[in-house]
Amino acid sequence: MPKSKSRLAIVPLGGVGEIGKNMTLYWYGNDMIVVDAGLKFPEEEMLGVDIVIPDITFLVENKEKVRGIFVTHGHEDHIGGLPYILKTLNVPVYGTRLTLGLIENKLKEHNLLDTVKMHIIGDNQQIQAGVFSVEYFYVNHSIPDTVGFAIHTPEGLVVHTGDFKFDQTPVDGRQADLQKLAGYGSQGVLALVADSTNAERPGFTPSEKSVGKTIDHLVAQAPGRIILSTFASNIHRVQQVITAAERYGRKVAIVGRSMVNNIQTSIQLGYLNVLPSTLIDVDEIGRMDPDKVLILSTGSQGEPMSALTRMARSAHRKVEIMPGDTVILASHPIPGNEKFISRTIDQLFKAGANVIYQGVHVSGHGSQEELKLMINLTRPKYFLPVHGEFRMQRTHANLAIDLGVDPDNIFITELGDVVEFEGDRARFGGKVPAGTVMIDGLGVGDVGNIVLRDRKLLSQDGILVVVVTLSKTSGTILSGPDIISRGFVYVRESEALLDEATKLVESTLVRMVSDNISEWSSLKTAVRDTLGRYLYEQTRRRPMILPIIMEA
Ligand SMILES: [Zn+2]
Ligand SMILES: [Zn+2]
Repeated sequence: MPKSKSRLAIVPLGGVGEIGKNMTLYWYGNDMIVVDAGLKFPEEEMLGVDIVIPDITFLVENKEKVRGIFVTHGHEDHIGGLPYILKTLNVPVYGTRLTLGLIENKLKEHNLLDTVKMHIIGDNQQIQAGVFSVEYFYVNHSIPDTVGFAIHTPEGLVVHTGDFKFDQTPVDGRQADLQKLAGYGSQGVLALVADSTNAERPGFTPSEKSVGKTIDHLVAQAPGRIILSTFASNIHRVQQVITAAERYGRKVAIVGRSMVNNIQTSIQLGYLNVLPSTLIDVDEIGRMDPDKVLILSTGSQGEPMSALTRMARSAHRKVEIMPGDTVILASHPIPGNEKFISRTIDQLFKAGANVIYQGVHVSGHGSQEELKLMINLTRPKYFLPVHGEFRMQRTHANLAIDLGVDPDNIFITELGDVVEFEGDRARFGGKVPAGTVMIDGLGVGDVGNIVLRDRKLLSQDGILVVVVTLSKTSGTILSGPDIISRGFVYVRESEALLDEATKLVESTLVRMVSDNISEWSSLKTAVRDTLGRYLYEQTRRRPMILPIIMEA
């Protein structure tokens, strides 16, 4: 592990080689600050895992050095890990107003609101955190109040973009701080740490306003009710939906917990303009003409428990899809969700709705020309492409090389890589512990490879539990063996097989006891082996076998 001498280190603890759980450590001597603390949704093989957060072992080991967590914006891949991380690492959180408002909702759910200190960063305010001095610059993204950070360090200025695009016609009229970025460029930027999500896409990402036009058009023409689903955090898009509804005389009912929460917070903090008469309770829609109703819903990713998915399979308590409804999915499938979304779309069509599921979305991340603009404005000496899979980081690096950044000055990092800056030179300086912590229910990090391996086995061929009671004195069988099976065979049609299996366990135990073998571990191994071999011969399946031996 590298020593904490006087040099600047940039260490990605999440968000490189992956999409999600963004977290970057900045470290100089006795001071550390962290940018973002996100979560990621589990991969397919992480059976039963709810969410995934960065491994913060290294930060916990250096607790007394950590001066704060600076948060760029309110998306889950940037704030979702905070409640779990703040429980072990209670440090101040800095961010803009809406971002902190959304974090507050989370901390409330985790009963952390009273223990965590949160600071709103003002425009042009410099936050001193140890040797670091941090200010933000505004950028466009798919949620309002998104910023990047200019981090002044003893080795020079680092520009950390966070997620960004450059939208010339932003919905809220707030432009990205191009002047500030150009200003950093002329002061001299030591390193640029930049979002690589759309590095593979040529051109410019279209303005969010273009989605507004499409939505306006659809709302104007829909004959009956409209059910529109989008990302709950995309307040710009929600604004455009509400504006269109108001223009064409429709009332808006909101369904889905995250949609209700985000809209409430955004209205309270002044990020969403809604006429007081526009919002109605979902119970009122039954009494209204269909063409006067717009239902704004969660579930654009086909999430099994979301409002839209429940409507699609007629399982929503208040809204039932009917012929004449227009369902608009104003979203784009996040990789991995395609199957869920197509199933939901099919069900909606079957229920008689007209479903519009393409062309009502633009990305919140800048494409190649915007990534180039960021590099040209800031003119960094060193470049670290982050926030992306390896190929996106690589492509982003190539863009920088095209613009004249020295290939030797580009660092494509993996989790835990330390990039050191000292006296205007930079190099890889080893690794710190980093990786993945899985969260399942209330358990943080207790599900590891062994638990996952068992879950995988269980999911493949099921489980057999063999229960038997032996006499403490003589070792003879007092009761059982009883075999209980789950997920292995359909018990009612497999009585013969299970009877034979029971006899086999019994004869194995009787033989061993008569040979004076009585340690439980040997008995269990013998039961597992004999039974496993027999069941494989009979069924070509390998269920997990769990022998339970009791003494009486
Ligand atoms: Zn984002
Ligand atoms: Zn992000």
